[in-house]
Amino acid sequence: MAGVLVFADQKNGKFRQVIFEMLGEGKKIAQHLGEELHAVVVGQGIGDYAGPLGEAGADKVYLIENAQLANYTTDGYSKALADFIKQEQPTVVLIAHNSVGKDLAPALAQKLAAGQASDVIAVEYENGLRFKRPIYAGKAYAHVSFTAGARPMVITVRPKVFESAAIEAGRTASVIAVTTSVSAADIRQIVKDVISKASGRVELTEADIVVSGGRGVKSTDGFKILEDLADVLGAAVGASRAAIDEGWTESQYQVGQTGKVVSPTLYIACGISGAIQHLAGISSSRYIVAINKDPEAEIFKVADYGIVADLFQVLPVLTEEFKKALAQ
Ligand SMILES: Cc1cc2nc3c(=O)[nH]c(=O)nc-3n(C[C@H](O)[C@H](O)[C@H](O)COP(=O)(O)OP(=O)(O)OC[C@H]3O[C@@H](n4cnc5c(N)ncnc54)[C@H](O)[C@@H]3O)c2cc1C
Repeated sequence: MAGVLVFADQKNGKFRQVIFEMLGEGKKIAQHLGEELHAVVVGQGIGDYAGPLGEAGADKVYLIENAQLANYTTDGYSKALADFIKQEQPTVVLIAHNSVGKDLAPALAQKLAAGQASDVIAVEYENGLRFKRPIYAGKAYAHVSFTAGARPMVITVRPKVFESAAIEAGRTASVIAVTTSVSAADIRQIVKDVISKASGRVELTEADIVVSGGRGVKSTDGFKILEDLADVLGAAVGASRAAIDEGWTESQYQVGQTGKVVSPTLYIACGISGAIQHLAGISSSRYIVAINKDPEAEIFKVADYGIVADLFQVLPVLTEEFKKALAQ
């Protein structure tokens, strides 16, 4: 076939914003290659999920439906996708660089004996396709190109760095059902239960504003002060690894090299020193505001605005002021 294939991960028919960002950049890659833009949805009961993908520019939407694929497992999804990709032979496969994508992409690339570029933040179109990605915790960038003829190129894409596809209401894609041979025998993981935690807040990697706390927050109660500000701003709450290790909040909120990479318009770092491993997760934030009582803290070197103060004094004032400003 050729084409640029977007893995359109979904939950109950809802696609994360990053899927539309991949369709936006995927269209540009497809045009550059003179190929089509395709999307693939995997799951169970997905028959009518293609609509938003067609409106966002996909020319074809493939649906791989099977009871064994109702929940994500590395074995099930990587096998179903690898079998499909071997048959269809897309040039480029785009997968979100989130918790599912980071798990799936290497397993898929291995099954396809394909090369992979992870956490891509830009696509360069001069001199053939190249993919820009941060390395050494964001201290340098690698520009990755693939050996001529090496197909497919498996790419994971950082959320919130590419522009979303333009939506054309009523536009439809060709929808193609794909049968898969995946069976229970292929899957070594057993999903016993899926517990969704509804914090009521926007997901960290998709958030436009993130309020994050570090060791300076001092306790679980300290995090409540951050949550108050986050609620007023409609922000997500993040944390440094130190705060997670102390048990003040849950590991799903860790930001950084071994946590989540965030790309908000505004990142507010409270009581975070600015260790390189934390900065690796926030380098593509548009504006960084740091609140720290140590004027020498490393975080001030990357911050656009710094407040040298005790966060317990500053945050309640900020929350009140934002509340008043937003009420107007
Ligand atoms: C392999 C590896 C991977 C890692 N991955 C990650 C990662 O993904 N994410 C991550 O965050 N870390 C990671 N780390 C840990 C990282 O090196 C740092 O230890 C950690 O980021 C420090 O967290 P912190 O800034 O909250 O704590 P600290 O470095 O202890 O800083 C606390 C800050 O709070 C300030 N402060 C204290 N009280 C107040 C107050 N009342 N008001 C205002 N400011 C106050 C202090 O001045 C200080 O600057 C990793 C480390 C390793 C070795």
